[in-house]
Amino acid sequence: MAETTEKKEKTPRQAMPEQAAEVRRRNFQEVPEGYTREMAMKEAERCLQCKNPACMNGCPVSIEIPAFIKHIKEGDFTKAVRKIWERNALPAVCGRVCPQEIQCEGQCILGKKGEPVGIGNLERFVADWERANGKGDLPPKAEPTGKRVAVVGSGPSGLTVAGDLILKGHDVTIFEAFHKPGGVLVYGIPEFRLPKEIVYSEVNFLERLGAKLQCNSVVGRTVSVDELLEEGFDAVYIGVGAGLPSFLKIPGENLIGIYSANEYLTRANLMKAYLFPEYDTPIVRGKDVIVLGAGNVAMDSARTAMRLGADRVRIVYRRSREEMPARKAEIHHAEEEGIEFFLLTAPTRFIGDENGRVKAMECLKMELGEPDASGRRRPVPVEGSKFTLECDLAVISVGAGANPLLTRSTEGLQLTKWGYIVADPETGKTTKKGVWAGGDIVTGQATVILAMGAGRMASDSIHKYLTWGW
Ligand code: FAD
Ligand code: SF4
Repeated sequence: MAETTEKKEKTPRQAMPEQAAEVRRRNFQEVPEGYTREMAMKEAERCLQCKNPACMNGCPVSIEIPAFIKHIKEGDFTKAVRKIWERNALPAVCGRVCPQEIQCEGQCILGKKGEPVGIGNLERFVADWERANGKGDLPPKAEPTGKRVAVVGSGPSGLTVAGDLILKGHDVTIFEAFHKPGGVLVYGIPEFRLPKEIVYSEVNFLERLGAKLQCNSVVGRTVSVDELLEEGFDAVYIGVGAGLPSFLKIPGENLIGIYSANEYLTRANLMKAYLFPEYDTPIVRGKDVIVLGAGNVAMDSARTAMRLGADRVRIVYRRSREEMPARKAEIHHAEEEGIEFFLLTAPTRFIGDENGRVKAMECLKMELGEPDASGRRRPVPVEGSKFTLECDLAVISVGAGANPLLTRSTEGLQLTKWGYIVADPETGKTTKKGVWAGGDIVTGQATVILAMGAGRMASDSIHKYLTWGW
């Protein structure tokens, strides 16, 4: 046994084939190309099938990881994907965007001495295999219960709730503010990381199951939560995300050519600027681009700007590399594509030309002082270090918060001081009877899998309510 473990520790992990950096930096096709069948089976061989699988402790939705990997090893990909579906309805999405390095793979026993099993790559492989080769069978549905549920928002948390409740026989309608469903999966995460077709096929699956989708419905404006309850919905789930952009609040921020990352990525993704010239979406196509911030959203914005034709893209961040919040893989991909990093640099104002367009940004050099409330060392300006960086497009990616449109128009919902909805951590119940909430609108911007986990928890609670009462 020990010999086998040692052998598996030494077997290298199957590398994910990728588009070459110099090619992909100018196209929107997906960067990783996916495992072949042989690669997947070989990678699955590396799993030790641990009796107490540490990997599962790292999975927020407790997928039976060794069990699905065993099916791959045996070449039964349908069984593998079915095993994942028991806990996760969106494996093609999660296999691509989950931070596996801090979740399942971060706990995998093989990672202690060597490289962890490529759990995310395997998850992606079986989900893609099923999409391409599966029979498209629908899972069995319970008899209709006659109960109606309104799901507000079609991001990962709303889609999870809809999928769970439709299978339990309830009548589900999803209300989405945008003209397309998918939430951040579609309007935020770019095509080169998560092809939209994958998200649409998951939504299509829900529609085939019988979920109704009403796009262009802004709850809080087109219809209120109370009206939904009065109209006969027995329960409402609020999964509206946290899409209100934060700004730097420095002079010149209203100049033309300055976007929030939210607006920039929405124009590029949802309004299809990435399909130019087929779609001539209005968007500033900067040649000399600055992106402010160093999280995943900043990396997505910088890499999008490069693909939209920039000559130079610089990420400006006020702390050092160590504190950059983005996933290491995203930073690495961005660097490979030629994105430059201006660290320990903070903007103080934007400078415009005579037409009101941004032409430069004034900055200060920073150094790191004592740790702040977040535990990260606080950046402190270096005296007399003022300098300017030229730019014709700036994208501000310094966080996002709760949009008050729905919450302000709904009586009886308790909010936190930042405007997020207060929900029971065990059930997702809000302080308003018949109303649940989950995902980013409760936690602040987090991850896809956490939003899905919150959706799963709430759907269990909603089902109990519809069956036995509040
Ligand atoms: P959302 O995905 O935000 O969906 C909310 C939906 O509600 C939207 O479609 C919105 O239009 C709709 N809505 C809002 N208000 C209303 C209303 N009043 N009426 C009707 N509909 C409404 N996480 C990862 O795990 N991995 C990543 O790689 C990753 N990358 C990211 C990249 C970007 C650019 C961004 C912005 C986020 C990223 N995240 C990532 C975070 C992740 O996408 C979110 O945590 C997750 O999408 C939250 O899901 P949600 O269902 O709560 O909300
Ligand atoms: Fe396989 Fe790693 Fe999980 Fe063990 S911890 S079962 S080796 S994936």
